Amino acid sequence: MNSEALLQREYIEKLHTLLKEREEDYGRKLTACVVTFGCQMNARDSEKLCGILKDAGFILTDDEGADFVIYNTCTVRDNANQRVYGRLGALYSMKKKDPEKKIGLCGCMMQEPSVIEKIKKSYSFVDLIFGTHNLYRFAELLYRMYESNEKVIEIWDGTDRIVEELPVDRKYPFKSGINIMFGCDNYCNYCIVPYVRGHERSREAKDILREAEALAKDGVKEVMLLGQNVNSYGRGLDGSITFSELLKEVEKVDGIERIRFMTSHPKDLSDELIKVMRDSKKICDHLHLPLQSGSSRILKAMNRRYTKEQYLELALKIREEIPDIAITTDIITGFPGETDEDVEDTLDVIRKVRFDNAFTFIYSRRTGTPAASMEQVPEVLTKERFDRVLSLVQATAKEQILRYDKRTMSALVEEINEQDPSLVTGRLTNNTIVHFPGDKSLIGSIVPVKLTECRGFYYLGERIQEE
Ligand code: SAM
Ligand code: SF4
Repeated sequence: MNSEALLQREYIEKLHTLLKEREEDYGRKLTACVVTFGCQMNARDSEKLCGILKDAGFILTDDEGADFVIYNTCTVRDNANQRVYGRLGALYSMKKKDPEKKIGLCGCMMQEPSVIEKIKKSYSFVDLIFGTHNLYRFAELLYRMYESNEKVIEIWDGTDRIVEELPVDRKYPFKSGINIMFGCDNYCNYCIVPYVRGHERSREAKDILREAEALAKDGVKEVMLLGQNVNSYGRGLDGSITFSELLKEVEKVDGIERIRFMTSHPKDLSDELIKVMRDSKKICDHLHLPLQSGSSRILKAMNRRYTKEQYLELALKIREEIPDIAITTDIITGFPGETDEDVEDTLDVIRKVRFDNAFTFIYSRRTGTPAASMEQVPEVLTKERFDRVLSLVQATAKEQILRYDKRTMSALVEEINEQDPSLVTGRLTNNTIVHFPGDKSLIGSIVPVKLTECRGFYYLGERIQEE
């Protein structure tokens, strides 16, 4: 274990002792609540926060009335920021009634200097603030906050350090994310991620494999390899290793039965990766391949470094090589300068690739990004275009999912169905959800399910008994 991880473990111990004293005063254990905004990366970071809190002696809860509440924030679009400000108001009311309550903020939004200014000025009741680069120091910062009973704010501009090997409290015992790289060097002109997550750093393959092996031993069957652009994995590491090679190594880990990854940048997706996916028994039949726009002109303005034609060629090649694969995407409407003609190009790509699903976003102006100073598209135009994109995406997805009708496919059972407890909810390798009769003993197992009835974006099914 590296020295920083050891140091942080010492802080967890110190926190543990400090909390024990508080417990005696309170006559009960202290509770903590972690609220996550944003992407898979943040979800994984929150599991790390939860792991530290749990080891320090907190009881974790979803209730924001907890003794310690921390928001792990996202700033990719402005509405995520607004939601945080809105909810902070409610936390303040709670804190007024319970002055011992502590409030923390971390994550991408905290890397923006203007946000920190605003919080200091208008939300001065927040007790702990840190950013994305020093998340591994959470135990130390939390200890300092409790011990001094003073506000602790620590934001770093960047780091080269990768500190793992700290406690993690996984949301699901049978599946887990694994960070394979951090940051991003792509600088798409609309995107704030490179500014708040720092430059791209790959983690050593041996560390990733060791983590995958440990997870498998702990009962994990499905891993998701996480990075902003997994296709450029390995850049900058001594002894070159590509993402395809890493996948082949993860495939060898006994006990891991399913491998997913996110996100693939189209410009870096190699033929080798398509081959590895096609020939693998463990890599899931799902590829998330963000398009952003179908117009070559807008793609250039976005600095995406591929054209409409290149994207189409790539997506159709993947469809040909792996016919069962589900291809999903991200699309932005309303990027500066976008015209009706550009939107027609996007619709054309949706029709040709036939996306199995898509996240559609209205462009959000992010201060500090190059697109923020470009001429913006009036909101009314964007709204109408967004609706057109969304309805085509939904119609295509509804048709695509019918490809699997009446097939028997394997589902990883994730939970009891929220609406009907006689059903369980499973995920197919193509990421489609299926609900079928079953009980909690099935959670975490991979079972064959016949897809009997398509309900729009998901299936109802029945379990097929294995011979
Ligand atoms: N690294 C990934 C990639 O390149 O596809 C995506 C990371 S980003 C957190 C997820 C998605 O948010 C992007 O694919 C993009 O569609 C969307 N996004 C990023 N910046 C945005 C902005 N300023 N306005 C609207 N959507 C945005
Ligand atoms: Fe943002 Fe582009 Fe990096 Fe994805 S690849 S995180 S969209 S800059």
